[in-house]
Amino acid sequence: MKVHSAEIVISAVSKAQYPDSQLPEIALAGRSNVGKSSFINTLIDRKNLARTSSKPGKTQTLNFYLIENVLHFVDVPGYGYAKVSKTERAKWGKMIETYLTDRQQLKAVVSLVDMRHEPTQDDVQMYQFLKYYEIPVIVVATKADKIPRGKWNKHESMIKKALGFEKEDDFIIFSSVTKQGKEEAWQAIESLAGI
Ligand code: GDP
Repeated sequence: MKVHSAEIVISAVSKAQYPDSQLPEIALAGRSNVGKSSFINTLIDRKNLARTSSKPGKTQTLNFYLIENVLHFVDVPGYGYAKVSKTERAKWGKMIETYLTDRQQLKAVVSLVDMRHEPTQDDVQMYQFLKYYEIPVIVVATKADKIPRGKWNKHESMIKKALGFEKEDDFIIFSSVTKQGKEEAWQAIESLAGI
C-alpha cells in the first residue's frame, strides 16, 4: 500500500478512549528497542511518525494511528523494560490484555522480534498468549540487515522453534535499513485486515 495519510488519532489508556470506529485494526507489539517505530515508519514512508524511542518503554499508552482512512495501526507499548516498576508492569499487562482480548476490530497482531537473537521469554509469552486467544499473528523478524543472507534460514528456524510458531501465521524477514520485507508485510496486513 502506498500511504499518503497517516495521523495519530488518540493515545488511549482506557477502553472508553478507543476510537469509535469500525475500521479494522492491526496492533504492533514487541520489546523496547526491537525496531517497532522504525517498522511503522518504513511501512508508511515517514521519517518520524512513530517517534523512535530515546527512552525505551516510556510510552505506556495504546497509540491509534489512522492509515489512509482504511485502517488503524495500534502501537502497543514496548514490553520487557526493566526500569518499569511491578505496579506499572501489571497495569500495562491489564491494559494490553483488555485490548487484545476484547476488541472486535482487531484483525491481527504484528509481533516484532529481533532476528539476531533467541526470542526473549516475553516474546514467547506474547506469541503464546495470542495463539491461546486465536488471534492471527504476523511475526516480523527485525534488523535482518545485520545478519548475512546465508544465515537467514538458520535464524528463522531458531526463532520459529523458540516461539512454537504455527504455520498458519506469517513470518516476515524485515529491515528498515534495506526495506527488505516491506511489501510482504503490507500484503499480510492488507489480507488480514480485509482491505
Ligand atoms: P522501538 O523501541 O521498538 O520503537 O525501536 P526503534 O525503531 O526506535 O529502533 C531501536 C534502534 O534500532 C534504533 O537505534 C534504530 O535505528 C535501530 N533499528 C531499528 N530497525 C533497524 C533495522 O532494521 N536495522 C538496523 N540495522 N537497525 C535498526
